[in-house]
Amino acid sequence: METKQFQAESKRLLEMMINSIYSQREVFLRELISNSSDAIDKIYYKALTDDSLTFEKDSYYIKVVPDKEKRTLTIQDTGIGMTKEELENNLGVIAKSGSLAFKKENEIKDGHDIIGQFGVGFYAAFMVADVVTVISKALGSDQAYKWESHGAEGYTITPYEKDSLGTEIILKIKENTEDESYDEYLEEYRLKSIIKKYSDFIRYPIKMDVTIRKPKEEAENEFEEISEEQTINSMVPIWRKNKSELTDEDYEKFYQEKHYGFDKPVKHIHISVDGTIRYNAILYIPENIPFDYYSKEYEKGLELYSNGVLIMNKCGDLLPDYFSFVKGMVDSEDLSLNISREMLQHDRQLKLIAKNISKKIKNELQQLMKNEREKYEQFYKSFGRQLKYGVYSDFGTHKETLQDLLMFHSSTEKKLASLDEYVSRMKDDQKYIYYAAGESHERIEKLPQTELVADKGYEILYFTEDIDEFAIKMLMSYKDKEFKSVSSGDLGIENEEEKISEAEEKEHKDLFSRMKEILSGKVSDVRISKRLKSHPVCLSADGEVTIEMEKILSSMPDNQNVKANKVLEINSNHEVFQALKNALENDKDKFSLYTNLLYNQALLIEGLPISDPVEFTNDICKVMV
Ligand code: ADP
Repeated sequence: METKQFQAESKRLLEMMINSIYSQREVFLRELISNSSDAIDKIYYKALTDDSLTFEKDSYYIKVVPDKEKRTLTIQDTGIGMTKEELENNLGVIAKSGSLAFKKENEIKDGHDIIGQFGVGFYAAFMVADVVTVISKALGSDQAYKWESHGAEGYTITPYEKDSLGTEIILKIKENTEDESYDEYLEEYRLKSIIKKYSDFIRYPIKMDVTIRKPKEEAENEFEEISEEQTINSMVPIWRKNKSELTDEDYEKFYQEKHYGFDKPVKHIHISVDGTIRYNAILYIPENIPFDYYSKEYEKGLELYSNGVLIMNKCGDLLPDYFSFVKGMVDSEDLSLNISREMLQHDRQLKLIAKNISKKIKNELQQLMKNEREKYEQFYKSFGRQLKYGVYSDFGTHKETLQDLLMFHSSTEKKLASLDEYVSRMKDDQKYIYYAAGESHERIEKLPQTELVADKGYEILYFTEDIDEFAIKMLMSYKDKEFKSVSSGDLGIENEEEKISEAEEKEHKDLFSRMKEILSGKVSDVRISKRLKSHPVCLSADGEVTIEMEKILSSMPDNQNVKANKVLEINSNHEVFQALKNALENDKDKFSLYTNLLYNQALLIEGLPISDPVEFTNDICKVMV
């Protein structure tokens, strides 16, 4: 018989799984039971929606059978089963292509992490078994098949006799080693406790034959051991339970069991609504970004149940894009089972639920920001960008909803601040909410443009992400305070110097118009700066497009060559200005040399490319000799 090889990536993962230092081997059972439960969900759903199939409710179950003599542990289910092709495709390959890309990108060397990211899945069986045998008969096929694997070498598939539909997974439990005991996975009490711990809420009975000691009927004081089939799990789904019965740990376990993520969620939201529309939902705000989150592959959505039956894995209509990071499920008895994907989109009930859910998420996030700041910041680090996209997208339709969730680094507080906090700290004479855009906090701090604003004691918000300024332009104002870039032409700060500079401007009219000529096509104006204190020059922008925005737009693939209206600002109190004046009077070449040097310096400070670096360095040399 031919042994087929696992696909390369599966093989590597399998090897890691087998040699895994994974501390909780016991989760293999959770994984297998949850696969069984999914398989029963599928057949149950079919039976409910297809009249030609009739099934009895009791005929859905999972059974766990340990056999100490044979050293096997069998997990049987009455689920939908797998065809030969499905055995091959589902168990011979790890179908999640994204995971492989992720592995390469991140070069994770520690198997533990990778396993965490993949979800343990079927392969977890190899943590406790040398040989895994899967016997399965699929709905609609007459022939059953046996899939068998001894681990990394590969697997075989052969026809097999099996009467009933469903799947049986037989694990040949490993022999004990010096530091590891595997016997426990054959012990009833141990299996019982693992099932209780991880799979209690599975909706189908998980059965096991349990040995019990019973007093003999004929003789007192004598006991006999008999075997009795018991249902181990309570079968009440967690979302039907009372919040007061549940602990944080229960919610976390559900999150892991469902593979919503492999982090510890920062918050869970348990909703039970019993109004015009009835539904239960358990939602999670994750802590970490899923590896594919900011890629096209990422699919948002919640699991959708109709009265306990899973009808959709990822119902995208339940979540707006700006909350696409939320994980979880919704169960409603008011949804029709037969509903198709297209109908679902127009379903009034569903829309109501979606609206309701969004509101709850927003409120929870706001509470989190207020009461558990550290957790919120953790969340914001991962998903703040998504919220900002939310403000910007759809022409700002959602800005009202999202503005209170935004935070930016504050120049005075040296940490993240909300807009509300900023406004509440504004000085009496301060008209605007000031921000500065740049690559990093360090670079922004050194920007000459921040000097005057900072000097006035005004707080500045630092924008370091591409989306920041675009989102703010969409927002325009917060609590009637407009946003203002520290690089914008008019800073809205009236001061004595302003008047002086206007007079000076007149005085040096000639100088500025000469500079403008030399820099024509590069800047739209040259002015005396009202904001510079110690630096000689800076660039600012007149109009809507700022220099940061120009940088971002020009890096986009379909850029329209949008340019900021650049203004070169000169500090008239700087020694350099005197040198400029002298040059204008005595040496025209020198004047044009200085003008170009100053312009290029301003570009450099701004992080913009110099069009001719060689000329620039030559210019510097000229000054030196
Ligand atoms: P995941 O469950 O995350 O998709 P697994 O490796 O656990 O990954 O399982 C791969 C696939 O194999 C499942 O998606 C399912 O289609 C199939 N499968 C696994 N166990 C069973 C089972 N008991 N009955 C039917 N199909 C199963």
